[in-house]
Amino acid sequence: MICPVCKSDMIDVEHADIELEYCVSCHGVWFDAEELELLLGSMGFDDHGLPLPDILHAPEAPTEEKKRRCPICGQKMKKMALGVKPEEVIIDVCPQGHGLWFEGGEVGHLLRQLAKKQPAAGDKSGQRVVTFLGEVFHAQD
Ligand SMILES: [Zn+2]
Ligand SMILES: [Zn+2]
Repeated sequence: MICPVCKSDMIDVEHADIELEYCVSCHGVWFDAEELELLLGSMGFDDHGLPLPDILHAPEAPTEEKKRRCPICGQKMKKMALGVKPEEVIIDVCPQGHGLWFEGGEVGHLLRQLAKKQPAAGDKSGQRVVTFLGEVFHAQD
């Protein structure tokens, strides 16, 4: 898969059933829709019910960030805010629901937010995502 930012070939990173694409040049990360569900669960969105269709129909976040194109279908992605101000992270979401894109610095930002939350007991998949991201990105920082 080609990085939507710098057009480098991204690498597959896999750990504990979670797979994502990582750009070694700009440190961006692509999650496909399934990994996205695990990630959202890990952020506590399970409780409030925030499945992918709701994200896709939510209003776009106001931001100066440049639009990116989905690495799967090539359509321009929507800017969406995850988390709570002032700690929110602006991510790019494919309007077709293929997945979402984190710019390089955003993953670290998200991890710091996740680290502040105590993962709910029994939320194994969410913990796996956090552990996974920590392992992958601490090594790269
Ligand atoms: Zn890149
Ligand atoms: Zn797409």
